[in-house]
Amino acid sequence: MKVTEHIRNAQGNTLFSFEILPPLKGDNVQSIYNTIDNLIEFNPAFIDVTYHREEYLYLEKPNGLLEKKVVRKRPGTVGICAAIQSKYKVDAIPHILCGGFDKEDTENFLIDLDFLGIDNVLALRGDAIKSEIYFRPERNGHNFAHELVTQIQSMNDGQYLDDYLENCNPTSFDIGVAAYPEKHMEAASLQQDVLYLKQKVEAGADYIVTQMFFDNDKYFQFVDKCRASGIEVPIIPGLKPIATKGQLSMIPHRFKVDLPDDLVVEIIKCKDNQAVKQVGIEWSIQQCKELKAKGVPALHFYSMGKSDNIKTVAQAIF
Ligand SMILES: Cc1cc2nc3c(=O)[nH]c(=O)nc-3n(C[C@H](O)[C@H](O)[C@H](O)COP(=O)(O)OP(=O)(O)OC[C@H]3O[C@@H](n4cnc5c(N)ncnc54)[C@H](O)[C@@H]3O)c2cc1C
Repeated sequence: MKVTEHIRNAQGNTLFSFEILPPLKGDNVQSIYNTIDNLIEFNPAFIDVTYHREEYLYLEKPNGLLEKKVVRKRPGTVGICAAIQSKYKVDAIPHILCGGFDKEDTENFLIDLDFLGIDNVLALRGDAIKSEIYFRPERNGHNFAHELVTQIQSMNDGQYLDDYLENCNPTSFDIGVAAYPEKHMEAASLQQDVLYLKQKVEAGADYIVTQMFFDNDKYFQFVDKCRASGIEVPIIPGLKPIATKGQLSMIPHRFKVDLPDDLVVEIIKCKDNQAVKQVGIEWSIQQCKELKAKGVPALHFYSMGKSDNIKTVAQAIF
């Protein structure tokens, strides 16, 4: 079922959902099942599965020259989505990127998803690969997520890339896109970022999922800005309970979000990560209570391989 149908059917009640990462190449799928088994009692409406593009490694050879090696550390997004839908009967949402895909790859990827009975996709540009500063699209690929949304929407309208194909089966994907209450790191201003977000919605996006945030006011102000700009689709908040002291620097660095002073002070006072985890859970519960009271469509958790703290938060909320 589509995300927007889940939201409609919930009639104002807040849904529970979460995101998982495919295992590292070589690991088996059991860690994913353990995460889902831990959270399934809260009836997730959908489970997102991230997509990880290739990275370049430069290995020094005995003669001193560098050898470029292309590696994909976390393949398996589509397989895991199919496995989740078959094992748990829960809608799985594969993330799909502009980066690393040309338009033909995108079309073929979407055909696979359609055949597998997947009803939703989260359409993203993706980051620059680690060895580059700026994002570079594939030749005949997409520069920005709104272009990818346009391609998916065209397939939903029965229009494939090849003009000679006749009577194409229209796909029927609900299309999600990403948003950043504290601004995307490359955006010149939050207002401009919102205007580009609107472009994604006008291209066909049905709903929005936000980057994690730790200060609800930032989310509420962002939603107000979006509504004032004419964006009307559901805006699902993304949440992450802090679990380690290391995340005090890792989260701002990797996700370009701020942590509120009160939270930082409490975490710095903690003697060990067990205590940090407890502070993170309590903070997240307060965030979720307020968001739910304000009627957000879903509380969407970034599991990043850890589900025990999300379980404790969910027990307090659902
Ligand atoms: C919910 C969520 C899930 C994610 N999942 C994944 C994942 O699975 N795999 C992964 O690799 N990454 C993932 N990411 C990270 C995401 O790929 C990066 O944040 C990426 O840098 C931006 O992707 P986007 O789709 O928001 O890009 P876009 O919407 O294309 O925006 C990228 C930048 O370009 C600007 N921009 C947009 N349109 C235009 C335009 N027309 N002209 C000029 N500038 C423009 C925007 O303001 C922004 O600064 C996720 C992020 C979120 C919030």
